[in-house]
Amino acid sequence: MPTHTINMKIVNTVSEMQKLSDELRKTKRIGFVPTMGYLHEGHMSLIRKAKELGDIVIASIFVNPIQFGPQEDLAKYPRDFKRDAALLNKERTDIIFHPFTEDMYTQDFSTYVEVKRLEDFLCGKTRTGHFVGVATVVTKLFNIVKPHFAVFGQKDFQQLVIIEKMVRDLNMDIEIIGHPTVRERDGLAMSSRNTYLSKTERDKALLISKSLKKAEEMFLKGERKTAVLKKEVEGVLCQKEGINVEYIEILFSQF
Ligand code: AMP
Repeated sequence: MPTHTINMKIVNTVSEMQKLSDELRKTKRIGFVPTMGYLHEGHMSLIRKAKELGDIVIASIFVNPIQFGPQEDLAKYPRDFKRDAALLNKERTDIIFHPFTEDMYTQDFSTYVEVKRLEDFLCGKTRTGHFVGVATVVTKLFNIVKPHFAVFGQKDFQQLVIIEKMVRDLNMDIEIIGHPTVRERDGLAMSSRNTYLSKTERDKALLISKSLKKAEEMFLKGERKTAVLKKEVEGVLCQKEGINVEYIEILFSQF
């Protein structure tokens, strides 16, 4: 990776970020891209979108402990701040907010945001508490960064819908912008967690995009029976052994 001079401001404390944002908001439109770091082209596309729509782009890098279940990968979640900073600088990001966990969650922290109904089905069924953790950290980040708008990936579609609902329900004065999923050439959705995959696991993961593509093709040709579409998706997913399907659902995106 070519090296670039780091022009961005890196902010590590909540109070400094709030002060800076208060100042910036007086004259600038602030765009925000929250991330957990270990950035890839998917994240970069969100930064570019924010750059296009705002005067100032703030990206946060924070591996949020409260959205990980006890059996999940908090300790081994990939991290490389130097590399992330270089990538963000290359896209001319203005500020990185990279807070300390103790500053975000003080010892007596006890307030959580729950978007009822949307969070305990689909992925929420097996990831208990995950979306409460997400809604809570995003609320905190919004209160700290004070953006006019924030860009989220459609890759995490349930998350995007939950954030949109939360903003509506709680009258948060922030525009939420959903941005399309960026994929590898072979169709795999980019994800920081793809680094965990062995060659065999990656081949299996590819069946997810393949199965979705197949359903999309059938839908575009006029198939409207969800049972038929779901069966087809399942058929593609089960082409390889060792895949346990947690759920296949076809839903309208407006809740
Ligand atoms: P993460 O760092 O995985 O928490 O993701 C931070 C933001 O980037 C979220 O809004 C994600 O939906 C978005 N994102 C992650 N991967 C992709 C991708 N492949 N394409 C588009 N957006 C993505």
